[in-house]
Amino acid sequence: MNLNFSPEHQAFRAEVRDFLNTQLPLDIRERTLRGEKLSKDDHIRWQRVLAARGWLAHGWSKAYGGTGWGPIERFIWDEEVHLAGAPRRNIPAIDLLGPLIIEYGTEEQKQRFLPPILASEHWWCQGFSEPQAGSDLAALKMRAVREGDHYWVNGTKLWTSYAQESNWIFCLVRTSQEEKKQAGISYLLIPMDQPGVTVSPIITVGGVHAVNQVTIENVRVPLENRLGPEGAAWSMTQFLLSHERIVGAGIGASTRYIEEARAFGRRTRRNGVLLSEQPRFRERLASLEAELMALKYTAYRVLADEVAGKAEAAVVSVVKLRGGQLQQAITELMMEEGGQLSWPDVLTLPEGDPVVPPEDAYHAQQAFDRRKLTIYGGSAEIQRNIIAKRILRV
Ligand SMILES: Cc1cc2nc3c(=O)[nH]c(=O)nc-3n(C[C@H](O)[C@H](O)[C@H](O)COP(=O)(O)OP(=O)(O)OC[C@H]3O[C@@H](n4cnc5c(N)ncnc54)[C@H](O)[C@@H]3O)c2cc1C
Repeated sequence: MNLNFSPEHQAFRAEVRDFLNTQLPLDIRERTLRGEKLSKDDHIRWQRVLAARGWLAHGWSKAYGGTGWGPIERFIWDEEVHLAGAPRRNIPAIDLLGPLIIEYGTEEQKQRFLPPILASEHWWCQGFSEPQAGSDLAALKMRAVREGDHYWVNGTKLWTSYAQESNWIFCLVRTSQEEKKQAGISYLLIPMDQPGVTVSPIITVGGVHAVNQVTIENVRVPLENRLGPEGAAWSMTQFLLSHERIVGAGIGASTRYIEEARAFGRRTRRNGVLLSEQPRFRERLASLEAELMALKYTAYRVLADEVAGKAEAAVVSVVKLRGGQLQQAITELMMEEGGQLSWPDVLTLPEGDPVVPPEDAYHAQQAFDRRKLTIYGGSAEIQRNIIAKRILRV
C-alpha cells in the first residue's frame, strides 16, 4: 500500500498553504492560535473569504456551490487549516445539513436553504440531543403534531452548540409513537427568531459559552420545512454519520498542539531549568509525538481504504477515540506543566499583565474544553462498544 500523497495532492497542499498564508486575516489567525474566542463576525469574515474562493462547502458537489473535494483533499485541508490557525466554519450547516439537503431535499428546499448557507446569512445549529436522549438518541421526546399544513412542535434540546449565534436549527422530532422508537422520527428545519424558541446558555468547565439548552414551545412549523419523508429521519441520520469523515481524527489540531507544546517547553522554566531540558517533559512530549505519528498513519490507511471504496465504517471509531484522547493528553501536558500560570482565572487578569505570557494563559481552558472531544459525536464508551462489537467481535 502506498501511503504517500500523489504529486497532485502535494500540489493541492501547496495551493492550500499559499491561500491560507495570504488570505487568512492576521488578527483572526493570531487570536485562533492563542485559543481566544472569536466573534460571529470574525467567523463570517473568514467564511466570506472561503466562499469567494469557492472553498467553503467541502462535502458538497460543485453543482450546488461546493468544492467537490474527495476525502483526501478534505483531509489535507483539515491538517493545513489547523496548522495555519484558521477558525471553524458553521459546521452544522456546512458539513451536516448541507449534504442532507443535497441528498434528500426537494428542489425548492435546495434553492431556499443552500445559497443562504454559502452567503453566511443562515447560521445553523444541530438539535439532536435532549435530556435523557444523548447516546440513546432514539429516546428523544420533542414532539411534532401534524395539523393541516403544519406541525405544532414542543420539547427541549440540550447541548446545542452555538445556538446563541444561530438563526436556524435542524431538529430530530418525534412525529409518531411507533413500537420501534427509531421509526417515528422526522427532520424539521425551524427558524429560531420567533416566539416560543428560547435559548439558555450553559457555561462549560473551560469557562466557555458554547453549548445551550433550547426549548421549543407551541411553535408552528410548515410542512415544507420537513426534510425527507415523515418518519425517515433515522436512516437519513445514518447517511449523515456515514459521511462523517476521517477528519474526526483531528490530526491537524494535534500537530499544532504538539508544536505549541514544544515552543512552550522552550520558553518555560521550572526551578530555573527549561522544560525542554527536563527528562520528564521530554519523555512525555516524545511519547505523545510517537502516538500522533501512529494515529496519522492509521488515518492514512483508513483514507486509502475510503478512496478505494472499501472502508470499514467501524475503524473510524478507533481514529475518533484515539484522536480525541491525544488532543486531551497534549493540552493536559501544557496545563500541568504550566501550573498556576495556566489556570483559567488568569484570563481575568488586566490586559498586558506581565506575570502571565498571553500565549500561556489559555492552556487550562483548552485542556478543559478538549474534554468534549470524547463526549460529543459519540462518547468514548460508545466508540469502545462499537470497536468491541464490530472489529474485535467480542
Ligand atoms: C461540547 C458539546 C457540544 C455538543 N454539541 C451538540 C450539538 O450541537 N447538538 C446536539 O444535538 N448535541 C450536541 N452535544 C451532545 C452530545 O452529542 C451528547 O452529549 C452525547 O451524545 C452524549 O450524550 P449524553 O450527554 O446524554 O450522555 P449519556 O448518553 O447520558 O451518557 C452518560 C455516560 O454514560 C455512557 N454511556 C451511555 N450509554 C452507554 C452504553 N450503551 N454503554 C456504555 N456506556 C454508555 C456515556 O459514554 C457517558 O459516559 C454536545 C455535547 C457536548 C459535550
